[in-house]
Formats: sequence, structure tokens, C-alpha cells
Amino acid sequence: MTDTAIPTTQPQRKAVALISGGLDSLLAAKVVMEQGVHVEGINFYTGFCVEGHTHAIRKKDKDKQKRNNALWVAEQLGIKLHIIDISEEYKDIVINPKHGYGANLNPCLDCKIFMVNQAQAWAWAEENGFDFIITGEVIGQRPKSQRKETMPIIARESGADDRLLRPLCAKNLIPTLPEREGWVNRDELYDWSGRSRKPQFELAKKFGFEDYAQPAGGCCFLTDPNYSKKLADLWQARGERRYELDDIMLLKVGRHIRPKDNFKLIVSREEGENNFLRGYKKEFTSIHTISHGGPLTLLDGTFDKDDIKLAAQIVARYSGGRTADKVTVEVENYQGTSYVMDVAPMPVHEVKEEWHV
Ligand code: SF4
Repeated sequence: MTDTAIPTTQPQRKAVALISGGLDSLLAAKVVMEQGVHVEGINFYTGFCVEGHTHAIRKKDKDKQKRNNALWVAEQLGIKLHIIDISEEYKDIVINPKHGYGANLNPCLDCKIFMVNQAQAWAWAEENGFDFIITGEVIGQRPKSQRKETMPIIARESGADDRLLRPLCAKNLIPTLPEREGWVNRDELYDWSGRSRKPQFELAKKFGFEDYAQPAGGCCFLTDPNYSKKLADLWQARGERRYELDDIMLLKVGRHIRPKDNFKLIVSREEGENNFLRGYKKEFTSIHTISHGGPLTLLDGTFDKDDIKLAAQIVARYSGGRTADKVTVEVENYQGTSYVMDVAPMPVHEVKEEWHV
């Protein structure tokens, strides 16, 4: 008997899975891999990604793992991951979402369309030619972007059309090209809908995944009400909706206090943030306390001498000298010139609640 391989009539199909780092995209990719499809992952860096920033900066979060969840997912799956920085192009999505925002400043629907489109454009550019795209979407999981009515919008506007497969809820949707062509077996896909995470946890268990990222953290800061509030405040203060990567990084750090329309303070809350903010001293005027231990503070906006004094009094309130008669602070501008002044700490009750962004 000769030992020749049986020729297969169907070439192995290739799919690109959008990997956010959460459980859904992990499972979606795995379900398709189980059917013999070659899967590679793609992960987009928007600047708003939650993981690896706050946890890395803040000391109180030191116990949390600082792994990159998307890379970790790829490792679990044993697939190649392409990480692509889309932070520049992504600005237009955040600033002008055609389909509007979700509960906060999260432009989820536009974001999904953009990402699927990017994945396809990218895959198209690759000579390997991927056959279809996989996402971990589940109908009804998110109020805006994952409704049954919006699923076709994402497929259509992204240009992916019926080459977009959502293995976790495919059976609730019209069969896509990979299903119709028999590249994947529709019977082995799922029909999940709704907000329950139970089926996800069960399937994860079945596949032997135990240590996945908890979805509660969300995949990006734009779904966080506090973060969105700070971004909205930034836009309002600037009189236009515009941001740089540094702006959105700084919104993740410190207390943001806006005592007047023209400027705000970014007051570090602990050592890790102090160190992080120090890296911005060449771009912002900063204040630190000399006579007492205290936080490093950056001033963002335009301000005159009186504003700086007001800021220094607020800074003193957050220092070890909050009950002292006076606190000595050093004010340093971004060019490195500095001066020292004494101020009376602002009484705690005078730091108005509405100043906190
Ligand atoms: S949560 Fe953020 S990354 Fe996820 S779809 Fe919405 S806007 Fe995009």
C-alpha cells in the first residue's frame, strides 16, 4: 500500500479575526479554527485601549496583570497577531461618528465598521488573500452596535458584506458566504443573543480557557462615563472637538479639576501618576509643593498670575500641608524657568464639587 496523501479538493480557507483581547473574540476565533480554517488575528490600537495604561501607571493597580490581552489571546489560540496602530485615522471616528455615540462618547457602530473595513483593506493588501473576517459580536450584547438591525449595517458599510462572519450569533443571521460555500459548517456555529455571559463562560470552559480577561473592564475608555465626561470637557474648553494622543493619555491619569473655563489642573493621585506626569513637564506648566509632600500638578489651558495662584492654593489643599497656614510651591513653566511662592491652602469645602471633571 502506498502512503500518498489524499488530495483535498478545497484549499484551506483563511480568515482574519478581530481580536480585542476579551473573551468574545477569543471564542469566535476558536470556533472557526476548530473547523479547520487558518486564522490570523488583528488588533487595532486606537489610543483609547484600557489595558496596559492605567494599570501600568497606577501603583494601586500594581497587582493587576499588565499583559497585553490581545497578544495573550493570540498566544492561547496559537495564532499570529497583527497589531496595527490606527490612532490617527481613528480620530475622525471619535470626533464625527456618522451613526452617533452610544451611552457615552463611544462611537461603537462607526468603530466596528471602521475596524472591519480596516481589516479587510489590510487583508486585501496582503498577497495571501484572506477569505473572510471574524468578529466576536453577539446580538443584543451592546445596546447600540450589537443590535440585530445594526449587524447588516456593519457588514455593508465596512465593505466586507457577507464575508463577515460572527460565529457566536451566526445562526440568528442570514448565512454568510463562508457558510454558503461550506468553508465553515453553520450547524457548528452559535445562536447567542442578549446580555447574558453564561454561554460564553460555558464555551470557554469547554475549550479549556480559564484565565481570560474579564469583559467588565470594556475594551476601551470611550465606554467609561467618567472618561467621556473628561473628553467632553476638553472639547468644550478648546471650543472644538480635537485631540492629540497625549491629550487622551492624560485623561486617564490624575484628578482633573477645572476651577475656571480657561484652565484645568491635572493633579496626580499617587506616586505612579506623579512619575508619569513628570514626563510632561516640558510641555505644561507644573506646580509641586516644596514645604510639604504633595502631588505633581500640570496646568492645561491658558492662565495668568491670579489663575496660577488659585491653582497653587488648590494644589496645596491636596498636599501634606492642607491644614498648614501656608504651603510653599514651585511653579515651573515648560521651558524650565521657575519661581517659588507661598500660598494658603484652599479649605477643602471651597474646592467645589462641580470643578471636578
Ligand atoms: S467599545 Fe470602543 S473599541 Fe469597542 S466598539 Fe465601542 S468604540 Fe470601538
